[in-house]
This record gives sequence, C-alpha cells and structure tokens, in this order.
Amino acid sequence: MNATAREFRELYGYGPEGVWAAPGRVNLIGEHTDYNDGFALPFALPQRTEVAAARRTDGILRVHSADVPSGAVTFELAALDPAQPPQGADSWAAYPAGVVWALLDADLPVSGADLTIRSDVPTGAGLSSSAALEVATALALTDLHGLPLTRPELAALARRAENDYVGVPCGVMDQMASACATDGHALHLDTRSLEQRHIPFDCAAAGLRLLVVDTRVKHALADGAYAQRRSSCHEAAAALGLPALRDLPYGELDRALARLGDPVLRSRVRHVVTENERVVRTEELLRAGRLRETGPLLSAGHASLRDDYEVSCPELDLAVATADAAGAYGSRMTGGGFGGSALALIDAEAEAEVGRAVTRAFRDAGYAAPRITAAAPSAGATRLV
Ligand code: ADP
Ligand code: MG
Repeated sequence: MNATAREFRELYGYGPEGVWAAPGRVNLIGEHTDYNDGFALPFALPQRTEVAAARRTDGILRVHSADVPSGAVTFELAALDPAQPPQGADSWAAYPAGVVWALLDADLPVSGADLTIRSDVPTGAGLSSSAALEVATALALTDLHGLPLTRPELAALARRAENDYVGVPCGVMDQMASACATDGHALHLDTRSLEQRHIPFDCAAAGLRLLVVDTRVKHALADGAYAQRRSSCHEAAAALGLPALRDLPYGELDRALARLGDPVLRSRVRHVVTENERVVRTEELLRAGRLRETGPLLSAGHASLRDDYEVSCPELDLAVATADAAGAYGSRMTGGGFGGSALALIDAEAEAEVGRAVTRAFRDAGYAAPRITAAAPSAGATRLV
C-alpha cells in the first residue's frame, strides 16, 4: 500500500478514498518576472508532495503532515477566516486550510475532508514545497467533490490560498508549474494571459544534467526585500506609463532607462526586461535542441539577479561561481533569492566532480554543507491511487 495511504489509515482509523501528488519546481529561467506580467520557464521536480484524502460531510477539515511534529489540526469550515490563520506549531496547516477557504470563497462546495500529507520536497529551499502542498490538496479536494476546475484554474486558486489566507504575496508561477508541467518538458508560462506551452527539455537524452544546489540558508531579509522589489517594479512601470514592465519591449529598454531618474529603479527595470528576453531566447534554443547553448543565458540571468536585482547572496554566488569554474555550461540562482537553491547545467559525466567542487568550496568558506541533487523535468500533479 502507498505509504501516505497507510499513514492515513493509522491516524484516522479508516482508509482514504485516494492519494494525489504534486511536485516541487525549479525555475530554469524567468526570475522575478511573474509579478511583472512576464514570462517564466519552470519545470517540475521528481520530488513531490502526496496527499491521502477522504471526504467528510460534516463541515470539518482535519489535516495532518508526516513531515512536521504537530499532530492533526482540525478546522470548522464555516469558521475559516483569513484574518486568523493557524499560528505557531500549527502554522503549516494554513496551506491546506487556505486551499479549502479559497474553494469555498469561490462558491465551490466543499463539505469537509480528512487529509494526510507527506513529501520529499525540501521545505524552504526555493523549490516550492508550499505550492506542491497547495496543489496536491486542491487536486484531492476538487476530485473528491467533483469540482470541474481546469489545471490553470486550480493553480490560480492555490495561489489565492497562499496570497490571501497564508499571507505570502507570491506570483502564480510555482502553482502553475506544479499543476501543469509535464514529464520531459519545461513549462513556458505567460503570467499575464496564463497561456502555457510545453517545451521539450530532455536533458538525459542530450547527455546533460541539471544540478540543484540547495544552499540550506534563507536570509532573514528575503520577505522584506521581495515586497520592496515588487513595489519598485510597479513604481517603475507607473513612471513609464505602462501597465506592467512586461509591456516594455527589449528593444526600447535603453530609451526607457534614460527616462528613469533613480538608478535603483533603472537596475530593477533592466533585470526584468532582460530576463523576459532571456526566457524567450532560452525557449528558442530548447525548441531547436540546442540545450548546451542555454548555459550563457542562465549565467547572464544570475549576473542580472546578483548585480541589477540584488537578490543573490554569498552562498548562491559561491555555488554558481564554483559550478561554472568546474565546467558548467551555465548556472544561476533559482527562486526568489537570499538563499534557497542554485541550478547548474552540466555534462552528465561531470555530475560527481561538480558536486564535489561545490561541497569543497562551501566547506572552505565555512558554510553548512549544501544538499546537491540532479533534477530531471518531471510530471505535474496527478492522482496516484
Ligand atoms: P518553499 O515553498 O520554497 O519550500 P515556503 O516558505 O514558501 O518555502 O513554504 C514552506 C512551508 O510550507 C513550510 O514551512 C510549511 O509551513 C509548509 N509545508 C511545505 N511542505 C510541507 C509538508 N510536507 N508538511 C507540512 N508543511 C509543509
Ligand atoms: Mg513557497
């Protein structure tokens, strides 16, 4: 029996109706573009979050996670209130409860559920364990209640749970990747229209590996800096008379920059506009099967995030510089920054060597040992049982 289903049975004393899974994600390129209506190119990780679930009809939600020490947390659906999400040891339960709140708020009938969660997506590593949890929960609940949501609608609802119930102002990329990605493909995402394209991205067939280096740090300024970057972008777009920075074409960047007095705003705009362009060019190269040639775009993306957007940190810069020096085609921080993970595109046979080089560099710098894994573009959310 599936281990999550077994866990459910042990905890609640009866069997679940099904088990659903949703993956974490890595963003290949297109960072800090999603709140600028721009483009992103994430792919789903093999690591995923499973939710075993059964419907209840009494307006009660019970959630339990094998990955946290707290026991099951119980909610009355009628009392779910985004002004009062669970706190302290139970705060993780805001993610699944937020999904139920978002469903109810959209007038989608949920009558209650028991859930058990277990995951091998590392939390807080910039690999979007939060979206994996939300999307797996949303898929379980919509299937159980026969609610006809498309995957993009499901992703939007999961994002709403995180924004408005948990209180994290994330864009929609993470949930879209987890809900909509397909095996062997990156997901080209237009975060304005929510239009998506599945771009073949078979690293193994090309003799390549994508190394994910989890730095295992998350610097405290991450949340505040994220909010600042968002508001700088919105300020710059308004100053330029644009609905969003997405509306500034790459070819008009220099002219637009000359109109902005503030050097900080100029750098932020330069990152967003050049990053959108890098997504476009990366997609073209992937479609042409020229995977190795995406390396310089990844590295240029890192330099832009480090120098213009100022969201990197010494650990991420060291991971990237060491991977590049050890022969990576390109590498970059991935996710919001200030810690989390970096991504390196390398030859498959260089995996052990690049891994050793990064581990050694971290040791020499006195940093905690990074967690290094190889990622292959994997399937999006699905029902397992
Ligand atoms: P990331 O999404 O990058 O992993 P976040 O801070 O956005 O980091 O989300 C991590 C949080 O999501 C955890 O602190 C926890 O509250 C919740 N979470 C994620 N996965 C699980 C899980 N398997 N069980 C319980 N809570 C989880
Ligand atoms: Mg998250």
